[in-house]
Amino acid sequence: MRAAVTSGRGRIEVVDVREPGAPGPAEVLVRPEAVGLCGSDFHYFLGDIGTIEDPSVLYPRIQGHEAAGTILEVGPDCPSPLAAGMRVALWPVAACGHCYACSIGRGNACANISLIGVHRDGALQQQLVVPAAQVFPVGDQDPAVAAVIEPVSIAVRTVVRGRVVAGEHVVVIGAGPIGQALALAATDRGASVLLVDTLASRLARGAALGVDTLQVSRDESFVAAAREWAGGDGPEVVIEASGVAGLVQPSMELVAQAGRVVVVSLSSERAPIRVGDLPLKEIDVLGVSCCGSGEFADAVDLVGRRREAAAALVTHEFELERTAEAMEYAMSHPAEVMKAVVRLP
Ligand SMILES: [Zn+2]
Ligand SMILES: [Zn+2]
Repeated sequence: MRAAVTSGRGRIEVVDVREPGAPGPAEVLVRPEAVGLCGSDFHYFLGDIGTIEDPSVLYPRIQGHEAAGTILEVGPDCPSPLAAGMRVALWPVAACGHCYACSIGRGNACANISLIGVHRDGALQQQLVVPAAQVFPVGDQDPAVAAVIEPVSIAVRTVVRGRVVAGEHVVVIGAGPIGQALALAATDRGASVLLVDTLASRLARGAALGVDTLQVSRDESFVAAAREWAGGDGPEVVIEASGVAGLVQPSMELVAQAGRVVVVSLSSERAPIRVGDLPLKEIDVLGVSCCGSGEFADAVDLVGRRREAAAALVTHEFELERTAEAMEYAMSHPAEVMKAVVRLP
């Protein structure tokens, strides 16, 4: 079978690899059909993944954590009603079960987390064995749309963590795929959303989802305009989804007294904050990692209800043999590419 192997920094080769064989107890064999590429894939591809630095640990690796496919075979002792032929989305998270985060029911932030496509081989290959607990049936959804469930699950986690409720004002900084997914997840809870970005093309997609937008230039402050949009005391929630480290401070400035700032984007950069804002405004500054299984199920449901909105996020499709090109193209065309998806034969 064919697999796209990231063999070194900035290098992907599509080669023949051995099939995984039959699934073991409580496992299923899946045929991945569509795999989304995201910012964290670009980081991995470029060798800039923060927690893992040793190249011999990073490579070779088969990437792909935003995946949908069809079950080929169900192993013995699978607890759920899974069957061959079912289309599923993959929840990439496996937790150790014994660290502090796991002990308080937050395995999504496990100290020894193992993610499909990051810590172990992912879905950019024609067959993959995964634990049955990590596949979620999606009905008859198109695989490329079902592949969007994983980024939407991060947005679901973010609005849960940010305690977003109906009637609140949520400013989302960054109108990339996670920003768009946040627009979906926050409006689904009944909140008003302002999406902020430098790229008009990305904001136009957000506007099509029915949220307000604000275009700013790179070194222009958005604080005053976003505060005016929220009215009153300012937005109850600000979500940093752009990956620009220097935008955490303006987020803290913008948020209402006693509000929540949620950082969902990955950055290895450092940026100063005005520490006094924490006690003076008594704000929560929260981080978001992956999602829990209940949140993944909620994302399956949300994408099922908003299929057209989710489908609109998929702007580019590539065949497996062109995975390297897909990665390069998506990285170099942010104004044009929202979500690039690799289709597997
Ligand atoms: Zn992702
Ligand atoms: Zn753990």
